[in-house]
Amino acid sequence: MKRVYNFSPGPAALPQEVIKQAAEEMTNWRGSGLSVMEMSHRGREFTEILATTKADLRSLLSIPDNYKVLLMQGGAIAENAIVPMNLVGHKAQPATIDFVNTGHWSSKTIEEAHKYAKVNVAASSEDKNFTYVPARDTWKLTPDAAYVHICTNETIGGVEFDFTPDVGNVPLVADMSSNILSREIDISKYAVIYAGAQKNIGPAGVTIVIVRDDMLGHALPICPSAFDWKQVAEHDSMFNTPPTYPIYIAGLTFQWMKRQGGVAAMEQVNIAKAKLMYDYLDSTGFYLNNVPAANRSRMNVPFFLKDESLNGKFITEADAQGLVQLKGHSSVGGMRASIYNAMPIEGVQALVAFMKDFEKKYG
Ligand code: PMP
Repeated sequence: MKRVYNFSPGPAALPQEVIKQAAEEMTNWRGSGLSVMEMSHRGREFTEILATTKADLRSLLSIPDNYKVLLMQGGAIAENAIVPMNLVGHKAQPATIDFVNTGHWSSKTIEEAHKYAKVNVAASSEDKNFTYVPARDTWKLTPDAAYVHICTNETIGGVEFDFTPDVGNVPLVADMSSNILSREIDISKYAVIYAGAQKNIGPAGVTIVIVRDDMLGHALPICPSAFDWKQVAEHDSMFNTPPTYPIYIAGLTFQWMKRQGGVAAMEQVNIAKAKLMYDYLDSTGFYLNNVPAANRSRMNVPFFLKDESLNGKFITEADAQGLVQLKGHSSVGGMRASIYNAMPIEGVQALVAFMKDFEKKYG
């Protein structure tokens, strides 16, 4: 089967082994006579898939026992409303939420939060066009905030936290949509972590929410029951019908990750892949990346051709070589290589080789 190297920011490349296994199991899952798509979510087979998927995620991320893993619908954008609806209620109203604004996705989270609480932007990198993470000692936090929200990897700007902030007793909430499972993290430093699946995990349609037990039970009366984490937890993510097929594929990806050696091993490969990209970008004046080294994302590498009139040629010639989906987000232009867990190092090597050739040809 002819496959390309897919640098899409999401929905993104999945491991070939996962796609192949899903294809083999598509019409008849392990002798059940059923496709996973046709199974009752309450049946024996799917119950087993769900339990294994959750257990594998727990072991990959070493999730402590006092956290629930919820598999929800709505994506990270829905969580922008679901998080405040679940959390502001543990403070007297009107509560304040502290935000760190590092770019496009944090800005969207902030915008939505205004509906539910007072908003304090404790720190922002807008002064430098969202190209860095403000140092922790510059944040102006509210002492009794309902929570502090960060986006640990800005998928469009290519800016990633290189530290886990200490925010004292205030709950720390993180949108990890584009870097979950790409590096080791200490879950116990966070009260809530959420992530859409379509970058490092599986197809679009399932949202992972990892929530500490004391964050349950504070939902505002206006919170839809299907989005009340306590209800979702009590029903083992089956308050409503869960996105069964995306959960199944996520489960296959988790098993693949375990075979690769888990998150620690993935992180080493991700460091090596990112180094290949950034070392080359720094060695040439033909391409540019303007994020300081410490905050450069390992997952999303935006870069610009100095001569932007070559953008069209770059995309066309890369495409012809099977290097696809490299166009940058429309709000920033240029190029972006998303190199999530499923992108093998060979794909990054092929991209860098192409970029070098392109520079030779037009530089
Ligand atoms: N947050 C981040 C960091 C993202 O990268 C994205 C998707 N690109 C979103 C939120 C929004 O995700 P969704 O459209 O699935 O809700």
